[in-house]
Amino acid sequence: MNMITNHMSTAELQKLDAAHHMHPFTDANGLAAKGARIIKSAKGVYLTDSEGHKIIDGMAGLWCVNIGYGRPELGNVAKRQMDELCYYNTFFQTTHVPAIALAAELAKIAPAGMNHTFFAGSGSEANDTNIRLVRRYWQVKGMPEKRVIIARKNGYHGSTMGGGSLGGMSPIHAHGGKIDGIHHIDQPDWWSEGGDMTPEDFGLERARQLETAINEIGVDKVAAFIGEPIQGAGGVIVPPATYWPEIQRICDKYGILLIADEVITGFGRTGNMFGSTTFGIRPHIMTIAKGLSSGYQPIGGSIIHDEVFNVVAEGGELYHGYTYSGHPVAAAVALENLRIIQEEGIVEHVRDVAHPYLAEKWHALADHPMVGETKLVGLMGSIALTPNKATRAKFAAEAGTVGFKVRERCFANNVIMRHVGDRMIIAPPLVITPAEIDVLIERAKKSLDEAYKIVKDEGLFVAK
Ligand SMILES: *Cc1c(COP(=O)(O)O)cnc(C)c1O
Repeated sequence: MNMITNHMSTAELQKLDAAHHMHPFTDANGLAAKGARIIKSAKGVYLTDSEGHKIIDGMAGLWCVNIGYGRPELGNVAKRQMDELCYYNTFFQTTHVPAIALAAELAKIAPAGMNHTFFAGSGSEANDTNIRLVRRYWQVKGMPEKRVIIARKNGYHGSTMGGGSLGGMSPIHAHGGKIDGIHHIDQPDWWSEGGDMTPEDFGLERARQLETAINEIGVDKVAAFIGEPIQGAGGVIVPPATYWPEIQRICDKYGILLIADEVITGFGRTGNMFGSTTFGIRPHIMTIAKGLSSGYQPIGGSIIHDEVFNVVAEGGELYHGYTYSGHPVAAAVALENLRIIQEEGIVEHVRDVAHPYLAEKWHALADHPMVGETKLVGLMGSIALTPNKATRAKFAAEAGTVGFKVRERCFANNVIMRHVGDRMIIAPPLVITPAEIDVLIERAKKSLDEAYKIVKDEGLFVAK
């Protein structure tokens, strides 16, 4: 059998990697100097690197390996599908069983009325589809000037030019610009930006920025609003309880389309199949990817409500599609993943077992001298690092300095926990057991303690 074999040392592999492999969201020269960590294999919630370290993965890869690593069923399905029909397109009035079956299954598990899926290869591509879909929707309805999409600062919707423009991350915009017709309002991050307001009042204030923006831009120019039920890459920002009901009220009042980017929150992450259910959101379109296949194959899509589908369909051909839209192997693997999630009760496991068990330990971290707010919805959590909990102070050092130090200790202690600025975030595989949660928390705590000592020794435990 022809396999990828390796006889090289870690150092040789790192050198070759630095010479030829350009990494996403990475300072290439910085990485070359240090050498990338090489992940060799993975099973359940554990990764093994080229040096034999067993690392507990508190991030499910990039928020995607919901059913855990190394489930042989998915490989078996992929092999069978590849042998039977490795590829065919879905463009020119053709289709195949995996795409049909997956679209039908998604209609079954999605909220009522969301009966149509347009497939993409990733979350970014799906959001590019959404830009075209909502603009086309208003065009067919005879209102082509309704094309502005309102999104949030510090939102993340991918890194294609469309996805990156919908996202509200200025460093991304700084590298290559933004497409036109996207307007950003402030994010509902009470810890960092809430000032003296209560979280409830702050949630309303931030949601009402949507109404202000619609009125300023003109409702005749606004096509849609897009938001993640919980901002993921922005730092697991859980909005105050008042936020989404007010956003929903405003979208209803002005009749603009609502896109819920469920790329992270979909498929069980929040303790329901979709984050929209958790927050009572009624979207016209849901962006999906990541947990759709648990990362075993690259696939994304847009689940579309009848109302939008019917209008776009009336307009005739939609000039849009990807070579790999509904790729049969990816679709078959996603379908098997959905079977496992449902038959093994993984969403219920998150809701009834893993979340309650982790919540107790996660919120107890608030006793740590460097930890302020702790948030956890389902298995998506964050902690805010601060030199002063009472005032919710930021560190005097550049944002992310302290967060990076905690992450370095996590790395050394074989636990993957990311930092976004000075927030630490987790999103472990949904199948994580209480015993594995104990390991995760023990290593996270140890890392926090070690980092705290370093931060104090270096004189960084100082408020801005
Ligand atoms: C990861 C992510 C995306 C982009 O998905 P890719 O598959 O990386 O293109 C879009 N939206 C959200 C909310 C994400 O977390």
